Amino acid sequence: MSVAGAAVSVDHYIGGRRVSSPETFEVRSPLDWSTKLADVSAGDGATAAAAVGAACEAAESWAALGPSGRGVHLRRLAGAIDETVGPLAEIECLDMAMLLESLQKRVISRGARNFRAYADLAEAHSERVWSSNGTDNRVERMPAGPAVVITPWNAPFMLATWKVAPALAAGNTVVLKPAEWSPLSASVLADLAHEAGLPPGVLNVVQGLGAEVGAALVADERVRRISFTGSPETARAIGAAAAANIVPFTAELGGKGPLIVFEDADIEAAARTAAEQYDDSGQVCLAGTRLLLAEGVLEEFLERFEAHTDAHVLGDSRDPATTISPLIHPDHLARVEGFVERARRAGDTVLRGGRRHRPDGLWYEPTLIRPASNDSEIVQREVFGPVLTLQTFADEAEAVRLANSTRYGLSGVVFTGSQERAERVGRSVRAGTVWVNCFLVRDLTAPFGGCGISGLGREGGDYALDFHSDLKTVQFRQETTA
Ligand code: NAD
Repeated sequence: MSVAGAAVSVDHYIGGRRVSSPETFEVRSPLDWSTKLADVSAGDGATAAAAVGAACEAAESWAALGPSGRGVHLRRLAGAIDETVGPLAEIECLDMAMLLESLQKRVISRGARNFRAYADLAEAHSERVWSSNGTDNRVERMPAGPAVVITPWNAPFMLATWKVAPALAAGNTVVLKPAEWSPLSASVLADLAHEAGLPPGVLNVVQGLGAEVGAALVADERVRRISFTGSPETARAIGAAAAANIVPFTAELGGKGPLIVFEDADIEAAARTAAEQYDDSGQVCLAGTRLLLAEGVLEEFLERFEAHTDAHVLGDSRDPATTISPLIHPDHLARVEGFVERARRAGDTVLRGGRRHRPDGLWYEPTLIRPASNDSEIVQREVFGPVLTLQTFADEAEAVRLANSTRYGLSGVVFTGSQERAERVGRSVRAGTVWVNCFLVRDLTAPFGGCGISGLGREGGDYALDFHSDLKTVQFRQETTA
């Protein structure tokens, strides 16, 4: 089938070949829900078994290539992505509604960077060696075996490449299952891997529903690693399957990040960054959705924040003037509406937004809520939409207490003009990533993950390579010279 003028396969990619399923699921565009994009093959247990089988067959020869041999393939795949930025951006935009311009300028090429970065990192790894107790010790990374990668519907291409690249670089073969609401760019990734000459079975892509093919993949005892991004609810199910087979798994889950603004901060920068939390309609796990403001800056902050938020343009993601895209799916829109309605009923105050943008689309207005209490559901649970909460604090201790008062711990944002405070608060906020006076800046070599129900384990840089490896210590008895 053709999407945005480019051919996209609706079938699985297993052992280097396209394979279809009799059952299909429908994919529609959030930009115009009346447009059906595709009927995609819905895999089942047999599909999962075939894909894991193909990954097992390819495992030994892929591992034997070593980091440099694999690096040649990964760099070729990165090049193929770079040459396909235009079509990939259009497909992803139609499928998930992320802003076209940001896909064209940044997001898709980040996918290529993921492959290059992990090819470099795997090659650069120097074995740790030391002497003790009359032996020389050496730590080696052994490829762990076939890995299953399961990704969510937001930022599908970027997240798939972020997770597939380290698995392949570490020497594991992969079965990727993208989310059923935005499955198309993963199918293009399979084609690019094919064209780039990745050996059959090294990367397999299966399509289908999480509870069916996804559950079958993670339960397969031949799988040796599971790398998951999605919701805590699904992580619990995957964790149970991983535990049954004693398989390590990483889980990158939801967030409810604080965005803390102290009285000594650059209020304009803080307000601008706060209004940016509505980008991608708030469907960003790392978003700082709880605005925590020093009492003294409330008025000035709100004035500036309102101006930046008023400047947002809700529209078609292909239009360069648009800054806020529609939500992914009518069910998700209903979920966001449900959160806001329950907040109203619970006595929270909706300061702006709180309704659909227009009756015929999937846009929801940028919404700001002053909760009646820190225990309000709207403060404590991830909405994953354009909904922020606003709370004030009297001093630094209260700011930190509020920041750490949810079960999540993925990210935090701190705005302050004081280096000492930045150090103190940066250390005290319980999160996998804390940004001080900036937001969403990422270094691929840094560890990435969450505390609490925001996740388990760390990926990124060497942390991801370690996760995808079995570490082995080899000890050699030292020659003694009498
Ligand atoms: P989800 O948990 O519903 O689905 C994620 C993936 O899991 C999908 O591919 C789905 O098909 C699959 N799945 C569902 N049930 C399964 C099962 N029983 N076994 C195996 N696979 C199964 O999440 P979602 O709604 O697609 O994504 C939104 C969530 O992802 C939000 O909570 C968001 O914060 C989180 N997220 C986290 C990060 C991060 O890096 N921490 C990044 C993006 C999104």
